[in-house]
Amino acid sequence: MTQPSAKALVPFVSVDNMMRLVNHIGIERALTDLASYIVEDFHRWERFDKTPRVANHSEVGVIELMPTSDGEAYGFKYVNGHPKNTSEGLQTVTAFGLLADVYTGYPVLLTEMTILTALRTAAMSAVVAKYLAPKKSDTMAIIGNGAQSEFQSLAMKAIIGLKTVRLYDKDFSASQKCARNLVNSGLNVVICNSPEEAIQGAHIITTCTADKQNATILSENMVGSGVHINAIGGDCPGKTELARGILSRARIFVEYAPQTRVEGEIQQMPKNHPVTEFWRVITGSEPGRQDSRQTTLFDGVGFAIEDFSALRYIRDQVHVTPYHVNLDMLADPDDPRDLYGMLVRSSA
Ligand code: NAD
Repeated sequence: MTQPSAKALVPFVSVDNMMRLVNHIGIERALTDLASYIVEDFHRWERFDKTPRVANHSEVGVIELMPTSDGEAYGFKYVNGHPKNTSEGLQTVTAFGLLADVYTGYPVLLTEMTILTALRTAAMSAVVAKYLAPKKSDTMAIIGNGAQSEFQSLAMKAIIGLKTVRLYDKDFSASQKCARNLVNSGLNVVICNSPEEAIQGAHIITTCTADKQNATILSENMVGSGVHINAIGGDCPGKTELARGILSRARIFVEYAPQTRVEGEIQQMPKNHPVTEFWRVITGSEPGRQDSRQTTLFDGVGFAIEDFSALRYIRDQVHVTPYHVNLDMLADPDDPRDLYGMLVRSSA
């Protein structure tokens, strides 16, 4: 049987290899590296092909495809969101993704993206906090202590110097799990009995709950002026976390407005409610936080360019580390037009 040529082999990073890679690099370094890839891509935002993700909704969840291209590489992520999954012993969010060469159309990387999504979402939150959170923010409340929570905490530590996390989850065992995982992180971790208690003294409030409904994780009177809210759990039509009154008075930042208006907290607001796309803050064409009393809100839903940055980062790691296997997933006949001949010869 003919062997596939090296150019037709596609590096594949399994969950196992992703864990080895992240442990090899060190999680805080990986988060910081990812943050710099995201910043680089947000600087060249206008070069990307952009479209709201393609979502397939069901009563229990959503399956989405998230494509984008910078003209040289093309990437997409397959991701689901099924809040009921954890009660069945499954993840709420799982994902995999692919990066391809625009010139040939050939894939150059296939990778798990469940861990990578947690890393890139956390890196993105911390990049946003660097520009929008009050100066010298060192305390974050995190409401919803599931799969994303440790990643969110560690990215804030690595990127903005967070010192304390105050945890609240309606399921106490989730907060205990998060606290246990962060025990040697260098963060001061406080488990709280209510969201009101969790947000006391917090400069940043992260909401990261999973529930397919218009929930009120933060009501209007809970949020004082001057805080930065990082709302990342509401990311689907009919799935929000904040009271509308908070949206009326906060300065709102989004990734890509056409997608966030459908999926984010701002689905509760009129279609023309003012928002700032965050890339404009990165490029300096719009200001970030304007004063210490301003309430800033990042209405984060996750956008394809962040996954593209994450795919680029892993592609670069694949060249310098052994944490991948090569997959024979592209047909590669010696004569490109003799696909059938290759099939026939393989039976000989
Ligand atoms: P998860 O299911 O592992 O954790 C969610 C946690 O929220 C659970 O521990 C649950 O008990 C808690 N919770 C639910 N309702 C609550 C409430 N009313 N008060 C307090 N706690 C509550 O999910 P996850 O993987 O951590 O993801 C969390 C959310 O973030 C999901 O909705 C997911 O879709 C979203 N998400 C967004 C992005 C993004 O880029 N914006 C990326 C990944 C995940």
